[in-house]
Amino acid sequence: MIVTIVGTGYVGLVTGACLASIGHTVRCVDVSEERVEMIRAGQAPFYEPGLEELLSEGLESGRLSVTTDLAKAMENSVLSLIAVGTPSKVGALEPDLSYLETAARQIGEELRKSSDYHVVAVKSTVIPGTTRGVVQRVVEAASGRKPGEFGVAMNPEFLREGSAVEDFRNSDRIVIGQADARSGDVLADLYAYFDCEKLRVGIEEAELTKYASNALLSLLISFSNELAGLCEATAGTDVETVMEGLYLDRRLSPAVDGARVRPEILSYLRAGIGFGGSCLPKDVNALRVYGRLNGVPTPMMDAVMLTNTARPVRVVEMALKALGSLEGKTIALLGVAFKAGTDDLRSSPGLAILQALVARGAKVRAFDPFLSPKAAERAGLNGSYCPTLELAVKDADAVLITTGDPVFRNADWERLSSSMRGPVVIDGRNALRHVTLPAAVRYFPIGQGEQLVEAN
Ligand code: NAD
Repeated sequence: MIVTIVGTGYVGLVTGACLASIGHTVRCVDVSEERVEMIRAGQAPFYEPGLEELLSEGLESGRLSVTTDLAKAMENSVLSLIAVGTPSKVGALEPDLSYLETAARQIGEELRKSSDYHVVAVKSTVIPGTTRGVVQRVVEAASGRKPGEFGVAMNPEFLREGSAVEDFRNSDRIVIGQADARSGDVLADLYAYFDCEKLRVGIEEAELTKYASNALLSLLISFSNELAGLCEATAGTDVETVMEGLYLDRRLSPAVDGARVRPEILSYLRAGIGFGGSCLPKDVNALRVYGRLNGVPTPMMDAVMLTNTARPVRVVEMALKALGSLEGKTIALLGVAFKAGTDDLRSSPGLAILQALVARGAKVRAFDPFLSPKAAERAGLNGSYCPTLELAVKDADAVLITTGDPVFRNADWERLSSSMRGPVVIDGRNALRHVTLPAAVRYFPIGQGEQLVEAN
């Protein structure tokens, strides 16, 4: 099948490279010339394991191409997947649909030039009603065609940054929201290769399924963080122990053949510094706005965000308590991206912590194993970015860990702490909980109440 993909971000490019690898002819389009040039040279514009190999393979085989020219990319193509960003509007909670509208208009203008049947499918995350109310409407106006003369579908994406290629290739489900059976059939053909459950549903159900998924993950994270706060206020408790007791409920860790199975969902039931990235915060906020617009209160989602916003602040307070004052102190911030395994800085709690530390007079030296010097420069981190863990930690008054990267857990803390001015470690992810640290290190994990002294 000849497929056009509009937008070469995490979703568009990974989808394109993976679809090309299973034999489709994929034409990716982006408005950014720089991005298109990079991809043409076989370079991924962001860190994602396995992506560059797939790009090279696809480009060499001729099955994958990338261009800024939508008209060329749509020649003889039967399907356009829209994968442009739907970020929150600046300073607001509702999504900015301008990229989506532009992409829909451009596709519609191309459709006006031919009478071939073509399906327009939204892969971007959009609130219920957007595919029909915005995309279909705009395509209709720009193409001069009626729905039915072109197909409409909504196909949400569930991949995770850091394991996007693997997630796409081993999807646990494919949700196809269809305006009619003919539109859905084209997507069913596209995904025929994949051996997983395929759910053919209404367009609005598909839109809402993506939000349901992200809202649940956010809820579990905020629940764990609220529990961490309660443990911090309760002498003699540790959130890690409380959580272990929770996990051992057979409904969460079923026993299979006598052995406990730990489903991956438990990784979201872990205390930390809060969720970030380009999806969870903006999607929970979009859902809140959607509820408000429809007169449906969403107090649970409101609380999820409230708890989330408080976590970075809490970790900065821990640093303040440990050091007395932050003024003039050097702090090594380990982890800047929103989680381990990615270089994505969008809505990163680590970045929020960095800014809060600087605002309180601290000098921050930030290191992230996945952040290249170039990406750090693009993000304006030149002043605080360190290319190695050793350089970041040397002469620091404290270390503050913001991602659970194994590099931090496996580091030589004997050597690192001896290079520090004051060996204080604040662990925002409980990443070093099972590491034996040198006795001189003052270690402050999250979710731990005041330690009770045991009576002899
Ligand atoms: P992104 O910001 O990384 O990439 C979007 C790309 O679209 C950019 O390269 C931009 O230049 C391009 N673009 C914008 N307007 C265009 C146009 N008119 N024509 C061609 N290209 C255009 O976005 P992303 O992270 O891939 O997310 C895309 C959508 O998928 C969002 O709605 C997001 O919520 C959703 N999503 C993201 C993830 C994720 O992990 N990042 C996972 C699932 C769903």
